[in-house]
Amino acid sequence: MYQSLSISGLLTLELHALNNEGAEGNTMMTRMVDIIDQQGRKHTVNAVSGDMFKHIVVEHLLGAARSAGLPLCAGCAVFNANRICADQGFMNTPGWGKETLDSVILGGVIERCAIDDCAGILITGKIGKERSIARKSCFEIGWVVGRPGAVTTDSYFHAKYVPEGRGEGSGQGENLGQNIFHRPASSGQYAAVVNLDLYKVGRNDITLACGLGEPERRSRVTALLRSVLCAFVKPTGAHRNTQNPHVVDFEGIITTSTSSLPAPTVSALNKDYVAELDRLVVALNGLSTGAGSIAARKFNGLAAFAEQMANIERQEAS
Ligand SMILES: [Zn+2]
Repeated sequence: MYQSLSISGLLTLELHALNNEGAEGNTMMTRMVDIIDQQGRKHTVNAVSGDMFKHIVVEHLLGAARSAGLPLCAGCAVFNANRICADQGFMNTPGWGKETLDSVILGGVIERCAIDDCAGILITGKIGKERSIARKSCFEIGWVVGRPGAVTTDSYFHAKYVPEGRGEGSGQGENLGQNIFHRPASSGQYAAVVNLDLYKVGRNDITLACGLGEPERRSRVTALLRSVLCAFVKPTGAHRNTQNPHVVDFEGIITTSTSSLPAPTVSALNKDYVAELDRLVVALNGLSTGAGSIAARKFNGLAAFAEQMANIERQEAS
């Protein structure tokens, strides 16, 4: 049984607009971030936020949970971002009052919904009394960030062609008449880091007890693994209707841990990340608590990544 899993890789995307900051007039602005390289030099590069990539994973998790017949709350069943807080049946559970312990409510969250269990939720509102109960996410995703010197963004002119509406745009932002607009397209190699704390699936954050039977827990773990795989196969961010990204390549390393040692990761922003990770695995496996518990699987291409993740999923399911 894997306790944790990390993915570090370099994803090559062409001509995407998966994440944008907003628009100035009729010009859409993409996400740009500042990073510092190993030599201490600053670079401004295109990036897709971790919020967007987590949203992508959760969208796939909804499909995986439905396919596996896993329980979903009324909020997650319709992909409501408020998740279980939008489930009035849950928020008004009979028998829950001001004396009810937060750990009992948290146990109810885990039992009722696989997405709140895996992806986390902050429950605010009145359940007997005003509460703020955090269900922490079982997985963590960082910015998917362009490698300096290997990423580019340009802005392209587009027009909505209306044969009888030339020059009749209202000028007030309405989608009427013939509009012209500028939209960015970015291409490059993007470093991605993902960490899955599989041991947290089904585990109550307060009591630390697992609230699920083993078959249900395994089923949720395999759904989560599959949703992470699907997020790289189909990154369902913004503007896919006309800027479906060309996914050209994905290379990197998956590490796993069967002990309390974390599955290690080094960002692909470091050009030597593969060699660094190899040494990290050897170093951790040499510790008395983790002897032989850390494994690394390299992948060179999206298909190889999918094969490795499918193998891990099969091992977790059996
Ligand atoms: Zn839910």
